Amino acid sequence: MKTRVLGRTGVSVSTISFGTEYLINKPQEHVDQVLHAAIERGINLFDVFYGQGYVREIYGKAFKGYRDRVMLTAHLGAVERGRDSGISREPQEARHFFEEYLRHFMTDYVDILYLHNVDTQEDYDKVMGPGGLADLAQELRSHGKARFIGLSGHTVSTARQAVESGLVDVLMFPVNIASNAIEGKRDLLEACAVNNVAVIAMKPFAGGKLLQPETQKSLMGFQTGGADTEVQTDLPITAVKCLDYVLSRAGVATVVPGFATVAEMDEGLGWYDASDDERDFSALLSSFAVYQTGECVYCNHCLPCPVGITVGNVNRLGDLAAHNLTDALREAYAALDLNASDCIQCGTCEDACPFGVAVIDKMEQTAALYA
Ligand code: SF4
Ligand code: SF4
Repeated sequence: MKTRVLGRTGVSVSTISFGTEYLINKPQEHVDQVLHAAIERGINLFDVFYGQGYVREIYGKAFKGYRDRVMLTAHLGAVERGRDSGISREPQEARHFFEEYLRHFMTDYVDILYLHNVDTQEDYDKVMGPGGLADLAQELRSHGKARFIGLSGHTVSTARQAVESGLVDVLMFPVNIASNAIEGKRDLLEACAVNNVAVIAMKPFAGGKLLQPETQKSLMGFQTGGADTEVQTDLPITAVKCLDYVLSRAGVATVVPGFATVAEMDEGLGWYDASDDERDFSALLSSFAVYQTGECVYCNHCLPCPVGITVGNVNRLGDLAAHNLTDALREAYAALDLNASDCIQCGTCEDACPFGVAVIDKMEQTAALYA
């Protein structure tokens, strides 16, 4: 397992790390199996962004006995809202859920403490301002409860301010070939390199869309100007090419793909032994020459929905059904506790979505598809 230096922190991290969101709601035995296999393969950084205690407890048990071999992240401001993860900017509440995190993971400290999901200027000012979560993060660090401070977000402008503020050691930001042309992103990554603020790259497969033939095609069409545009559909987009794109960007120290199984993880770890040809992503770049917002990457950052819809999961089933509505998809949709028909069109998710997704329209389309 190769490692890289995590910017100014000076610590070594595995070049490919692990995002744990696809293990949510999996049984303890499965979580144990996948996380232990990851540790055995040399992965040493694990991202845990959500606030739900029932999920954290399962992961905490899985990491028991391995704490000295792994770096753990926590996201300050990630709180539990019903069965979902939500966001709080109240220091008292954020502190409570952070202390709960330490209890669930049976540890005294986290390695990276992120200011969680900061995407608007108003939110940035609140988090970074006097008495905000940045002050709390520094206090926790001064008490030995966090080694390094980071910021996670999806917006170039606020991320750039954080990087240049001198406060954060690490930036967690989406980096994938589909968003290659996003305005200002290249400058942001270069600013990270210049300031020695390590980039921990999330969403290397654009929420999995880059690895599925149907969604791959729609993503390309979307990026190049819409569904009517001719897109090249025979390009081999592989996990290895996606990862090589990410790992070759300025400032990126490590990438945190979400793996649900050992097989998926091993496919990603194939990057280490891949040939230059297998890694070469250059032919893909022209398919992602334009960037538009509005494509759901199934991240669920828009939760909680007031009626309890898991927006990312419903959108994923909607996107897949738009290409080919199979019996398996119908079955998965029928198994949802709440589906697109339950949407009351309140718009809460649209306000919270960092990718500009028209969720209400998508819910209507998905409800019609599965009617
Ligand atoms: S609507 Fe936006 S926030 Fe919600 S899952 Fe999709 S991309 Fe993520
Ligand atoms: S618009 Fe629909 S999916 Fe979005 S938060 Fe409101 S009820 Fe939930």
